[in-house]
Amino acid sequence: MRIDLHTHSNRSDGTDTPTELVENAAARGLDVLAITDHDSTVGWDEADEAASRVGVRLLHGIEISTELDGQSVHLLGYEFDPADADLLAELQRVLDGRDNRLPRVLSRLQGLGIDITEADVERWSGNAAASGRPHVADALIELGVVVDRTEAFDRYLKPGRPAYVDRYAAPLRDAVRLLVAAGGRAVVAHPWSRGSDRVVTAELLAELQGLGLRGIEVDHNDHDAAARAALRGIAADLDLVVTGSSDYHGTGKTDFDLGCNTTAPEQLERLLAP
Ligand code: AMP
Ligand code: ZN
Ligand code: FE
Ligand code: FE
Repeated sequence: MRIDLHTHSNRSDGTDTPTELVENAAARGLDVLAITDHDSTVGWDEADEAASRVGVRLLHGIEISTELDGQSVHLLGYEFDPADADLLAELQRVLDGRDNRLPRVLSRLQGLGIDITEADVERWSGNAAASGRPHVADALIELGVVVDRTEAFDRYLKPGRPAYVDRYAAPLRDAVRLLVAAGGRAVVAHPWSRGSDRVVTAELLAELQGLGLRGIEVDHNDHDAAARAALRGIAADLDLVVTGSSDYHGTGKTDFDLGCNTTAPEQLERLLAP
């Protein structure tokens, strides 16, 4: 049984349509797939249709952009009510923050002499719930400014680089509470990637568990063997569910292929238990 609980479609910053995502998962021999687009559930219906056609079990998920003490922390949510009004309002704040940031990112790039417009970005974000930095990166590739998303982030878009502009993220504790209140399961995504190790401590995880946090994503390509071993130890101490997943983004992110990390069936059972 092969289970991948963290994947993106072009409803956020992946490059596969939800249908292609599910078809590719089936072709890769996955039995269970969660679609977890950033801050949006708009891909669920199309993915459902494809999943019933190709015989993959589809889980409904999301990856919420949250922050704690100014540090970005991603939170996965599964099987919650997508119509929950409080959760939807918070997700909309994040999506609006991403869209509202775009003109400022573009004017920074224009100030560097790069001739890039909103229309250039919208060619890449047209299917997505909001226009994010990866779509700006795609436009920069098309304009011949960079060769891939990694170069775009490293030269222009990541914190400390000249076109980086901050945006709204949901307070982490609020996001856990909102997912739980909407009937969902909350899992901290790649807890120790890109500096989030500074805020995601064992103490914080214990506190979030008190708010209803179910698990942590341990097996993720952003974690080396030592990080995985340490996180597995924390999960064991706290009795948190351990997940593993690809964080697949189609061609948007290399070396994050579907099924490159997987979740054990007994962990999935604990995750989804009432
Ligand atoms: P945004 O939410 O619009 O600020 O964009 C952040 C998203 O960009 C993250 O969730 C990742 O999916 C993606 N991302 C961040 N850093 C990189 C990178 N170095 N290369 C490619 N994608 C990245
Ligand atoms: Zn992404
Ligand atoms: Fe993430
Ligand atoms: Fe992700």
